Amino acid sequence: MRYDVQHFINGKHVSVQGRKLDIYNPAIGEVVGNVSVADKQLVNQAVSAAQSAYASWSAKPASQRAKILFNYKTILDAHIKELAELVTREHGKTLLEAAGSVQRGIDVLEFACGIPFHLKGSFSEEVATAIDCYSMHQPLGVCVGITPFNFPAMIALWMFPIAIACGNTFILKPSEKDPSCGLRLVELAKEAGVPDGVINVVHGDKETVDALITHPAVDGVSFVGSSTVAEYIHRTASAHHKRVQAFGGAKNHCMVMPDADLDVACDAITMSAYGSAGERCMAISAVVAVGDKVADDLIAKMRPKIQAIKIGPGTQPKIDMGPLVTKDHYEKVKSYIDLGQTEGAKLIIDGSQYHQTDAPQGYYLGCSLFDHVTKEMKIYQDEIFGPVLVVVRVPDFDAGLQLINDHVYGNGTAIFTRDGYTARMFVEKVKAGMVGVNVPVPVPVPYHSFGGWKRSIFSDIGMYGSDAVKFYTRLKTVTQRWYARK
Ligand code: NAD
Repeated sequence: MRYDVQHFINGKHVSVQGRKLDIYNPAIGEVVGNVSVADKQLVNQAVSAAQSAYASWSAKPASQRAKILFNYKTILDAHIKELAELVTREHGKTLLEAAGSVQRGIDVLEFACGIPFHLKGSFSEEVATAIDCYSMHQPLGVCVGITPFNFPAMIALWMFPIAIACGNTFILKPSEKDPSCGLRLVELAKEAGVPDGVINVVHGDKETVDALITHPAVDGVSFVGSSTVAEYIHRTASAHHKRVQAFGGAKNHCMVMPDADLDVACDAITMSAYGSAGERCMAISAVVAVGDKVADDLIAKMRPKIQAIKIGPGTQPKIDMGPLVTKDHYEKVKSYIDLGQTEGAKLIIDGSQYHQTDAPQGYYLGCSLFDHVTKEMKIYQDEIFGPVLVVVRVPDFDAGLQLINDHVYGNGTAIFTRDGYTARMFVEKVKAGMVGVNVPVPVPVPYHSFGGWKRSIFSDIGMYGSDAVKFYTRLKTVTQRWYARK
């Protein structure tokens, strides 16, 4: 039986006729549900609901908003399993990975619970005779969040908890490929006591996004997705006078030095490259091996580990890697495995012929590993966003650093070394927003902010942490003079 994923406006489910999109379960390769595309009229309805809710929500003391968020956290903690099941059904990642991603979203919600502290302004007494100066943070108004398919719970939770904690109201537009989890998160927010209209959900694709980012009553837009779309969102929403943060794609390099502990590096890189089937903006997708010996030894260690990765439906126990999200994405990733061979890279492990016998229609791809990849190759330049890892050999640290810095993306990067000075130089000189030292996935904790450089970001302000408080508020600075009545 196919399900219908509804919109959620002003605390109520809304279903509309009109254009519908199929939702697939990638583990079986079948349509399991539908989602209707919100048109301009429905977007207007959601924006009106958010506008109406704004006055009383933004006027609530921050501590009262925080109380509701504490309650929301307790409710989400009790629903991790259910939310993870929704993620796995429509995205494909394993239940363990899905639950982990929900938990990381809840961690950001936890940060949002401390909002009275973060909204604390600053005060300078007596800046001139009888004059004080103080600054405060006021909410923007109606904010919009547009999320990608790869983390349907976590990325939504990077956005709306802090946005509403700051006093804004919100409209979430989840990825149309896996929209159920975003809707469920917002239903649970209502259960927690978030008033109607404070968080709304509209579903759809470009039509819906365009209506949201050009709407005159929308004040802020947070976007996470591919770089081409991020750039478009940044340009269009900015032209319509919104505050915008738009995060794009990645090609995360990991430099392995000759003095690195190769066992540690091998485990870390394997996990990072193939976890969530490589559909992670923080996955390591390019190894920069310093010297041929490092490349040969690392590949020798990684090969059996990669070949031992157990592939299958994410709902089954003991599965390490699920399918890719859609047939189109599967075809795209597979085409890069062919392309890499045409380009002259050495295919060490070929995942393109993988066949899942118990689910032949599912979008399963095996893990692939290329060696002798060069910077001219498309498999090096492009974000593949699948279980494909490339190894580039460089003669020394400087050549590796240059390679990383010349790449168009600069989301995350890592280095494996035992030498403190080398690590320090890497941290100082590398052009990427998030850096790991002997740590493969340097996703910052919620009280630091998340954000890349170069074509991985089209704005200046990071996601979550103190940057998010900055993003979701406007600064107002008051200079006041009080003197005795004559
Ligand atoms: P996507 O860009 O295709 O879609 C993201 C969102 O934009 C979806 O909600 C979609 O409906 C909407 N959209 C798609 N095309 C649009 C268009 N032409 N106009 C307006 N809206 C449009 O991305 P995706 O395939 O869902 O997600 C994968 C991408 O997201 C990868 O590139 C990955 O690196 C990136 N990502 C980045 C981060 C980060 O923090 N930098 C995190 C996760 C994912």
